[in-house]
Amino acid sequence: MSRFSSQFLLPFLLISFFFLTIISATDGDVDDDQTIKTMHQFSGYPSSEPHHHPLSSLSVDTQSLQFQVDELATFSDSPSPSVTRVLYTDKDVAARRYIKNLMGLAGLSVREDTIGNIFGRWNGYEPELAAVGTGSHIDAIPYSGKYDGVVGVLGAIEAINVLKKAGFKPKRSLEVIMFTSEEPTRFGISCLGSRLIAGSETLEKALKNTFDSQNVSFLDAAKSAGYARDKDDLSSVRMNYGTYSGFVELHIEQGPILEAEGIPIGVVTAIAAPASIKVDFEGDGGHAGAALMPNRNDAGLAAAELALAVEKHVLESGTIDTVGTVGILDLHPRAVNSIPSKAHVEIDTRDINETRRNIVVEKIHQSAIDIANKRRVKLSGFEIVNQDPPALADKKIIEAMEASSRELNLDYKLMVSRAYHDSLFMARVSPMGMIFIPCYKGYSHKPEEYSAPEDLTNGVKVLALTLAKLSLS
Ligand SMILES: [Zn+2]
Repeated sequence: MSRFSSQFLLPFLLISFFFLTIISATDGDVDDDQTIKTMHQFSGYPSSEPHHHPLSSLSVDTQSLQFQVDELATFSDSPSPSVTRVLYTDKDVAARRYIKNLMGLAGLSVREDTIGNIFGRWNGYEPELAAVGTGSHIDAIPYSGKYDGVVGVLGAIEAINVLKKAGFKPKRSLEVIMFTSEEPTRFGISCLGSRLIAGSETLEKALKNTFDSQNVSFLDAAKSAGYARDKDDLSSVRMNYGTYSGFVELHIEQGPILEAEGIPIGVVTAIAAPASIKVDFEGDGGHAGAALMPNRNDAGLAAAELALAVEKHVLESGTIDTVGTVGILDLHPRAVNSIPSKAHVEIDTRDINETRRNIVVEKIHQSAIDIANKRRVKLSGFEIVNQDPPALADKKIIEAMEASSRELNLDYKLMVSRAYHDSLFMARVSPMGMIFIPCYKGYSHKPEEYSAPEDLTNGVKVLALTLAKLSLS
C-alpha cells in the first residue's frame, strides 16, 4: 500500500473507531460483547491487513524510557558508563525495587517467586486463559553496558503503558517477567531463573550445594536479598507447559547485522544453543632440547591437533549455523624449554539444530580418542559440561511479530539468535518468540553497548502490537 493511502486511511479508521466506541459505550448493559468485538477490530487481529487500525499509531514515551535505562544503570558496582550488577547484591536488590515500582506505576499486580523472578500482571477480560508473557533480565556482568536485558524489561513495561494509553483491553492477561540471573557471574549458572521455571530437579538439588567465589551459598545469598525465606524448596518456581500461551522477549541484537543493514527490527526464528566440552591430555613431558622428536608424546600438540579437528568437524556440517570455538588452551608446565606434559582444552560448539550439533560433539570425542592414540598421550578427561537443546521460535508468534512490523511500517529481517537468552528456556514451557533491535557495532557486555532511542521505540512498538495480537488470539 502506498504511503498516501495509508495516511488517508488511518485518520478515517481512527474516526470510525471513535464512533464505534461511543456506540458500544452508550449501549447499556450489552456493553461487554460490543466492546470485545470492537477490540478485535481495534487490534486488527486476526486480520493482518497492514495499516488498518489505530494501534498503528502507538505512542511510546521515548524520553522516559531512555531516562529509566539511564537511571537503572546507576544501580552499579562499577563507575559509569560501565554497569556491574550481580545477583542478590545490594545494587541488584535496589534495581529490583526500581522495577517493581515501575510495574506498580503501570498498574500491574506484582508478585515474586522464591528465587526472585518478578512478575507483573495485567489481567485480561478472560483471566482464566493462559497469559501472554514477556520479559528479560536486568543483571549485568562486571563492566558491561546498560542495554542487555534491560531493554526487554523496561521495554515490556513501557509496552504495557503504550497499550493502556491506546485504550487496549487484553483478552488473555499480559505478564511482564524479570528473570533472576540470566548471567552466570555469581554462581556459574546462566539463565538461572528461566531454567528453574522450565523445571529441573537436578538443578534444584545442585543449587543447594552451590557457592560463589566468596564461599557464600546460593540459598544464603538468596535469603540475604529477601528470597528463599520460608523453605529451601525451589520446586515452586517450576511452571507447566501451557502456563503461558506465548512468550516474547525484546532484546538488543548483540551482533552487528541489523545496524550494518539498516534494518530496525529482527524477528528471531531460532536460538542456537551451546554444548561446552572440557578435554585433558597427559604426556610424559621432558626437556625441550634433550628429548628427541621420535620419543616424544607432547600433550600440547595433541591439544593443538584437536583444536584444528574442531574447526574441521564444524565446517563439515555444511551450514554457517554450526560454529565451534576453542576458547581455552592451557599447557603445563608452561615453560618455553619444557615439552607440555598436560594440556587442557575447552570447546564451545553451537547450532540451531540439535542433532547436527550433537554429531559435531560426537566427532570431537572420536577425534580426541584418535589423537590420543596416535600421539601416545593419555586422554585423561573428556567432559561434556552442558548440552542445552536449541529452540525454534513458534510459527504463530513469528507471524504476529512480522505482521506487527509490517503494520508499523518497519522493515524487518528474519534471523537466528546466536547468543542464547531466557527465551531458550521459556521455549520449554511456552511457544516462544524474540524481537531484536540494532545496537551500535554489535557491541555488548561492555560499556560501549548502545541502542538509539529510536530503535528502543521501534522495539517497544513491535512488542506492544505483538502482545496485543497474542492476547486476543
Ligand atoms: Zn541478555
